[in-house]
Amino acid sequence: MFSFENQVCLITGAGSPTGIGFATAKDLGLLGGKIYMIATSNRIFERANELKELEIDAKGVICDLRDASQVAKTIAEIEKESGKIDVLVNNAGINSTSNHTVYDKKSQPNFAELEDDDWYRVLDINMKTNYNVSKNVLKIMKKNKYGRIVHISSVTGPIVTQRGLAAYATAKSAILGMSKTIALEEGINNITSNAVLPGWINTGILDEASLKYGEHTPIGRPARAEEVASAVVFFASKEASYVTGQELIVDGGNVIQECK
Ligand code: NAP
Repeated sequence: MFSFENQVCLITGAGSPTGIGFATAKDLGLLGGKIYMIATSNRIFERANELKELEIDAKGVICDLRDASQVAKTIAEIEKESGKIDVLVNNAGINSTSNHTVYDKKSQPNFAELEDDDWYRVLDINMKTNYNVSKNVLKIMKKNKYGRIVHISSVTGPIVTQRGLAAYATAKSAILGMSKTIALEEGINNITSNAVLPGWINTGILDEASLKYGEHTPIGRPARAEEVASAVVFFASKEASYVTGQELIVDGGNVIQECK
């Protein structure tokens, strides 16, 4: 069994009770990790309280990860308080602060009709957040000569795509380029960087049509957030010391089937 005893774990985007971020924070906490979780709204404190009830050492922090100065301040405070960050899970993303989500097909125009503001908004939420946090946390990991970074990408972009999701697909692909380069540059510092590519995950953000697509995977259902968290825990573990620059698809086998 993996252990995160004496390790400080930072998980971004853990605000939703049914999301991948919170499921990951819970797993890492139950395995002994000290947990810091970030989101933009007060609900992050409710998540931290839920973990504390399980006797996990957990803290919720509010920060808009699109804002470089807010991120620098927040990460510096975490370092001051805990002395280090061993594990970073870059999970924040999607478009949960907007009135239309990435999966709401009706409000997602094709690339040719896409407004510049929408393009940059989706890139900011799904890529700039990851960039801002990775940069600040890497400095701490380099000092400590240890780190595990796990990026939550998607099959959307790197493997497949959907009409209307150009910006999201671009962001999720770009994360992989960043992850591989970090892996190459920081391997010598005992820091690994890997990515998990989820398929249809029932985290509460999928519309009815998307849940239906999940039923057409070889496993025959969308995933639970915990099933993505399990893959993250492996990459985040000390035991994954010789695995870096890699990607793991968690999609119930969906991308291998020609006939869906
Ligand atoms: P989710 O519950 O909506 O998770 C997104 C989280 O990010 C929320 O906790 C949100 O919290 C936070 N967040 C958004 N913008 C932020 C910002 N600017 N700064 C800080 N936190 C921010 O959805 P999910 O399905 O678990 O998605 C988690 C990750 O998995 C995302 O990166 C998503 O792209 C990826 N993914 C999901 C699926 C799927 O089928 N569900 C498939 C592939 C990939 P607040 O709103 O409270 O800030």
